[in-house]
Amino acid sequence: MSTESLHIVCIYPDLLSTYGDRGNALILARRAMQRGVPVEVSEIRSDQPMPTSADIYLLGGGEDGPQALGAQRLLADGGLHRAVAQGSVVFAVCAGYQLLGTSFFAKGTKCAGLELLDLYSDRGPTRAVGELAGDIDPRLGLPPLSGFENHGGRTHLGPSVSPLARISTGVGNDGVYEGAWRGKLLGTYAHGPALARNPALADLLLRWALGVNQLPPLDDTWADRLRSERKAAIAAGRP
Ligand code: GLN
Repeated sequence: MSTESLHIVCIYPDLLSTYGDRGNALILARRAMQRGVPVEVSEIRSDQPMPTSADIYLLGGGEDGPQALGAQRLLADGGLHRAVAQGSVVFAVCAGYQLLGTSFFAKGTKCAGLELLDLYSDRGPTRAVGELAGDIDPRLGLPPLSGFENHGGRTHLGPSVSPLARISTGVGNDGVYEGAWRGKLLGTYAHGPALARNPALADLLLRWALGVNQLPPLDDTWADRLRSERKAAIAAGRP
């Protein structure tokens, strides 16, 4: 892994990229380049082998069928597991988050996950659709999470993984907590795309990948404005 350039992989955009999750790669690349870090972004389709030496891997959301297929192909390929063993960063959204765990449900069937995080997902009583907000684990030192969720699954964390945030609006994992993280692996139900709405979260992933404690600040006026507008809409009861 290099600190001089950054290789970002978008995993299976042909299966996993609903609600603009591909935008997370654009945000990471732009924020790295603004700090003078050269970036290469690769989109790896589900019929291609997974590179094992990238710095950041992105998994997006997906409907049940593509999600189950994505899990099968990633398990058969094994490349993402090798990358994680070597210390790569993984950021996963919704379906991508669920498939990092031991199992999830798709189209009524229990499917094997990648077992990269100590969690599993089952089905909830309702589909969780709408704004998602909450206070992020203070150990990560980030402002509150802001996003949009749309999922039928509910996620249950084991003891070796921490929730990403405590919910103030929305459902997330279970109505109380949202997302999960361990080491340099982080999952969330937030679409939006999440990193456009949460630039400090994008910078956390960049810091993990580059092995630095700080990055030069950027002008986040537009992202901050969007976050305030969404917060005001929630407070006014029209999320
Ligand atoms: N298919 C999954 C669910 O409904 C994930 C949906 C998504 O990625 N938006 O829970």
